[in-house]
Amino acid sequence: MAGSARVTRIDFDPGPLPSLRSSYERRPARFSDVDRASWESWHWQHQNRLRKLEHFEEVLTLSDAERRAFEQSAARFRVAVTPHYAALMATANPGCPVRQQGLPQPGELRHYDFELEDPLAEEAHMPVPGITHRYPDRVLFYVSHHCPVYCRHCTRKRKVSDPTTAAARDQIEAGLHYIRTTPTARDVVISGGDPLTLSDARLREILEALRSIEHVEVIRLGTRNPVTLPQRITPELCEILRAASPVFVHTHFNHPDELSQESARALRMLLDAGCVLGNQMVLLRGVNDQPETVMELNRQLLRLGCRPYYMLQCDMAAGISHFRTPLTTGLQIMDHLRGRIGGMGVPHFVVDLPGGGGKVELVPDQIEGRHDSPWGQVVTFRNFAGERFEFVDVDPPRLDAHGDDER
Ligand SMILES: *Cc1c(COP(=O)(O)O)cnc(C)c1O
Ligand code: SF4
Repeated sequence: MAGSARVTRIDFDPGPLPSLRSSYERRPARFSDVDRASWESWHWQHQNRLRKLEHFEEVLTLSDAERRAFEQSAARFRVAVTPHYAALMATANPGCPVRQQGLPQPGELRHYDFELEDPLAEEAHMPVPGITHRYPDRVLFYVSHHCPVYCRHCTRKRKVSDPTTAAARDQIEAGLHYIRTTPTARDVVISGGDPLTLSDARLREILEALRSIEHVEVIRLGTRNPVTLPQRITPELCEILRAASPVFVHTHFNHPDELSQESARALRMLLDAGCVLGNQMVLLRGVNDQPETVMELNRQLLRLGCRPYYMLQCDMAAGISHFRTPLTTGLQIMDHLRGRIGGMGVPHFVVDLPGGGGKVELVPDQIEGRHDSPWGQVVTFRNFAGERFEFVDVDPPRLDAHGDDER
């Protein structure tokens, strides 16, 4: 027995996951001649992104409203959709949740006085360009302003896709210098844009630099690539992540229709590389504002080893009013999830306060009343099924010198 214990590494073959669609098999006719190897190449996906109205006309049956929205809003916020993401869209239904996130929407031109260009005041909390340091122990580190798909609900619209604000090498160096010289920066969130638009070599440099800083305890990578360009998760990238392990990868699935064989494989590869997976969903009207939709998404994510972390209230960014839901919608979803899915499938419902107030969590109130008793307050709770239960919130016992309770 002694010394003979050996761990055999099982080479990882996720195989097909039942009930998940493959984007390749669903690819639009425009791409029917594309072979699987090209479809699986993220370079090919990147080079063949749909950007112009003509591209979308070839793939989808557009409504007049979509066509108009495209012509009017594409100039304000760039349009790009990977063939992979386009393949997940319903061809004839403008209400398709994937389509609403990738195609310019009529509501984008509507602006209200209360809306803000920089709703979270991320720029105001920048000690150096490219770093937002708001909480005592955490920094947001922007390393790219590009994304494979430009999400119509993006909160960083003002910067994302704007070539004049590209996070140049100098800015990344300055960010690393700030982190190195700021001992309270224990938790670094690598963000953007999408950090995975950088090359493997660049990512390796950033991760190695962060790992060489003693006070950096937690490294997170915020990326939507597992959703919009899962082909970007290559064995080479996984080796880089494995070397920096554990890396918390926070991705951004908003709807079960965004799940595919390709995404499932990407998540499995990340898990196999020692990453810890979390999902940050944004609550979007008409996309995922039904409790059953969130439940289904979270169930699927758990099955794939990705834990729902946040459900974010749509913030006060300009041009996304059509996506905004009342706070009660989020609370109702939370109320529905609790008890119906395991605790691991219940995210934190948070509002990111405007002006840099940070995140606050909202929790449905499950206390229905209180009354006094000799033992302390009796609290009436409501459980997930709507039944009522009383719980005695005991006053600390008042013991006399002999150890007897005075009551
Ligand atoms: C959300 C956020 C973080 C990370 O916060 P967690 O609640 O720890 O996930 C860090 N910095 C900024 C500025 C943020 O908005
Ligand atoms: S991937 Fe993230 S940063 Fe990029 S457009 Fe979408 S929401 Fe914005």
